Amino acid sequence: MDINSANIEQIVKQVLAQMNGGTVSAKTGSSGTVPKTAKVAVLTKLEHFDIKEYPIPEVGDDDILVKVEGCGICGTDAHEFKRDPFGLIPVALGHEGTGEIVKMGKNVKVDSAGKPLKVGDKVVTCMIFKDNPDITMFDLNKQNVGGADVYGLLPDDDYHLNGWFSDYIFVRKGSTIFNVSDLDLDSRILIEPCAVLIHAVERAKTTGILRFNSRVVVQGCGPIGLICIAVLRTMGIENIVAVDGNDMRLEFAHQMGAGAHVNFKDHKGIEELTQGVKDAFGGYLADFAFQCTGSPAGHSNIYKFIRNGGGLCELGFFINGGDATINPHFDICSKEITTVGSWVYTLRDYATTFDFLKRAQAIGLPIKKLITHKYPLDKINDAFATNLKMEGLKIAIVNN
Ligand SMILES: [Zn+2]
Repeated sequence: MDINSANIEQIVKQVLAQMNGGTVSAKTGSSGTVPKTAKVAVLTKLEHFDIKEYPIPEVGDDDILVKVEGCGICGTDAHEFKRDPFGLIPVALGHEGTGEIVKMGKNVKVDSAGKPLKVGDKVVTCMIFKDNPDITMFDLNKQNVGGADVYGLLPDDDYHLNGWFSDYIFVRKGSTIFNVSDLDLDSRILIEPCAVLIHAVERAKTTGILRFNSRVVVQGCGPIGLICIAVLRTMGIENIVAVDGNDMRLEFAHQMGAGAHVNFKDHKGIEELTQGVKDAFGGYLADFAFQCTGSPAGHSNIYKFIRNGGGLCELGFFINGGDATINPHFDICSKEITTVGSWVYTLRDYATTFDFLKRAQAIGLPIKKLITHKYPLDKINDAFATNLKMEGLKIAIVNN
């Protein structure tokens, strides 16, 4: 080989890049080499994943290949695991994922917010608009993800690399993607569930009732309720009462910013429970309530905690949890309650979520402690078993 000056310059550059801590993936470049196959956890039957190995498809001009670092298990995944309500089996699950770009097509220059994208950047995906890839985040203020596809809940196809419970995911044209290189791995895994709460609080604000000095009750202290408390705290809302039946979760609610809590198991019947909530607010009912349980009784009860003229955001019934009974006269009409429903999020909420995560850390809220368990990909069946036992809060698959 003839070493001319151009070659030497190239070698020097390469050595410098390596000295600067360039990782293997960062060196691959947009035309670099990637493995021939990827591992994907495929739900092949109810309550069982198989780790399958698929060839990594050729990365086209508009495609992005992402090396997966981690992905949280969502309640939706747990439902799919147990019952396949969407009829997707065999399916590559995992939609709360994040990873690093290892290869991308020449047409990919910026993310969905207009931020430059390059190999080595850390990313998350949001919705996929196959039919209308030109939709931007600013067109979508009024449309939530309900009408679009997401990776991790797609029918199987020739690509196979469709979910984040894997070591590589293949992001195609029409997908929305965000450069989140300025967030650490745990924060990035929590983006998707946090976006659900950013959206819910935006919905709540439309009532005009939620204010800095509002008394707010948050019922249900799973990950969704706990993040709800954190979002309210980062907005400057101080007077928050958490309601749940689990002391460990209620203790965590305090760490996330709740000022008081009520364990519903300590109160017999709805009247006693309502008195408990009132006592927690120093003798007042709530101005506003967030209903974060999927329990019909939870929905029926929540109206009692709200003052006349107050507001309610119902976000617990992410999936169909059955009918709930209320008394329209006492619960809504005569109290003049303003209710909003909230489901998933818009693209715009994603961008707000990145800032929320930084603010929450800045004021010392232990958001990352929500991830209570981490499992490697090949232990995904154990991870789901732990999730079904409701032992932890957020269970995540993390690749090494
Ligand atoms: Zn989810």
